[in-house]
Amino acid sequence: MPNKLTYLTFVLVLTLIMSVVVACDRELNEPSGGEVSVATTTYPLTYLTEKIGGNRVVVNQVVKPGIEAHDFEPAPSDIRAITNSTLFIYNHPAFESWALNAATAARNDGAERIVVVQTINLESSDEDHDEDHDEDHGHDDDAHVWLNPLKALEQSERILSALIEVDPESSRDYTRNAAALSVELRALDDLISRELANCNLGSVVVSHLAFGHIAERYGFEQIGLAGLSPEFESGPSQIAQVIDRIDALGIKHILREPIVSDRLAESVAAETGATLLTLHPLEVRTSAEASEGLDYIDIMKSNAATLHTALGCN
Ligand SMILES: [Zn+2]
Repeated sequence: MPNKLTYLTFVLVLTLIMSVVVACDRELNEPSGGEVSVATTTYPLTYLTEKIGGNRVVVNQVVKPGIEAHDFEPAPSDIRAITNSTLFIYNHPAFESWALNAATAARNDGAERIVVVQTINLESSDEDHDEDHDEDHGHDDDAHVWLNPLKALEQSERILSALIEVDPESSRDYTRNAAALSVELRALDDLISRELANCNLGSVVVSHLAFGHIAERYGFEQIGLAGLSPEFESGPSQIAQVIDRIDALGIKHILREPIVSDRLAESVAAETGATLLTLHPLEVRTSAEASEGLDYIDIMKSNAATLHTALGCN
């Protein structure tokens, strides 16, 4: 009998904890003292906005930690978070295909004056196609720009302009914070450049093709087990080609991701004898990273260390 009681108590406590967790999850960060309310889609945008906005902004990130960002679809509570915001910041429709519809829904919901900020342009999506476009080197539809710190800096410049537009009185604070952020992002770029300056390999095998911009910046090539989105997994014949290239190039590491499934990465590692390491696409943080307070810079530094090992750098 005591056992049964203990079990019931346990279930009751667990249910209580779960409902508190769910309630917290749905709670919005509300401005309390005239701050600018900002909705962001993904973590790097949250990081940049909080760095520039400081204590003048309250940010709600729509895609929560631990959620796979590519196949995300907003729930009514997410639309409400956008409706309650002055600014809605996203990367590009090539990444958040739902963002513009969500902005329209927010406007219809009463946010007539919401300022919607696309933080990056991509060549082919935004401009005319280049006839001589080289498929192998182009990443015209690759919106994972934040993995190149200098492109994250470009994103931060658009965020700065938008904050000044909606809150001109704080423009000096925003400008000063953005200048400090720029120093940090350039220092990160220098650090990665040094880490990857002298490497034995020129290619890494990654879980999905999220790393085109960082690869272009630091001069290596990514070989993907899936396409631009993790759901576009390569078929058996493509995987066989990847395995051949791993053998031919002498690649010793397969770079898994923290959030998407490891199944394919594990099986290719087992087949080739390669070691699994983690390379973070930084779309969102894991719940553990968020609660430990690991930020964009911390995770990018750990990415640099992973790439240093995987590329066999000195
Ligand atoms: Zn991705």
